[in-house]
Amino acid sequence: MDSKGTSEPPPEASVRIEVCEKHGLRFNAATEDGCARCRTETGERAMGPRGFVAQRPPDLGRSVLVAMLMIVGIGGSLFAAHRVAYNFGRAMIEEAMAPLEEDLEEGAFDELPPSD
Ligand SMILES: [Zn+2]
Repeated sequence: MDSKGTSEPPPEASVRIEVCEKHGLRFNAATEDGCARCRTETGERAMGPRGFVAQRPPDLGRSVLVAMLMIVGIGGSLFAAHRVAYNFGRAMIEEAMAPLEEDLEEGAFDELPPSD
């Protein structure tokens, strides 16, 4: 097994946990020369993609999904409230218009000049 000869070992061999003698921190000896503190001190930040896992940005897709669900929920609530208000207002208008329609039927506006 020549683990040092291959530049890109298979995934099974790419994980070899060792403890840093200097800092006592564990690190992947297969892909990293030292622990995170060692690499920070030496300035070698571009060791590999594993070093950037801790600095992964927040899941933007999930935030957008949550925002969309909130918007849909608020929109649905507003729509329901709007419908209730609409039905309530319509009922009140119909109730208020009822005597007026009776007046119209009785010819309360006969005094108005004909449009013709
Ligand atoms: Zn170290």
